[in-house]
Amino acid sequence: MLNKLIELTENNLKDIQKAFDDYQNNYFTARSPEFFCLELNGEAGELANNEKKQWKGREIEHSAFEDEAADVMIALMNYSNARKIDLAAALTRKLQKIESKRIEMLKEGKNF
Ligand SMILES: [Mg+2]
Repeated sequence: MLNKLIELTENNLKDIQKAFDDYQNNYFTARSPEFFCLELNGEAGELANNEKKQWKGREIEHSAFEDEAADVMIALMNYSNARKIDLAAALTRKLQKIESKRIEMLKEGKNF
């Protein structure tokens, strides 16, 4: 299962990240990594705010969660491109690290 996830990541994420970069560079003002980092956190905050409202009993349209999750994804892509982060490579490394930790904890009888 993890191998499939890594294979999909390595085969597709690089192209997706590049397409976001091309789109951003061709149609929008160039921004710094710091700008996109703040934008990413702002969008994550908007998503969290929707969760907080729903948790407290307000009804939130599912489309509002989708909208903010999309904003987070776009901001993460823009941040990663501005910061020259290879997300496919970084994600693969992180998934392998998490899996190693999970197996280690499983051997110790702990849940991860
Ligand atoms: Mg938003």
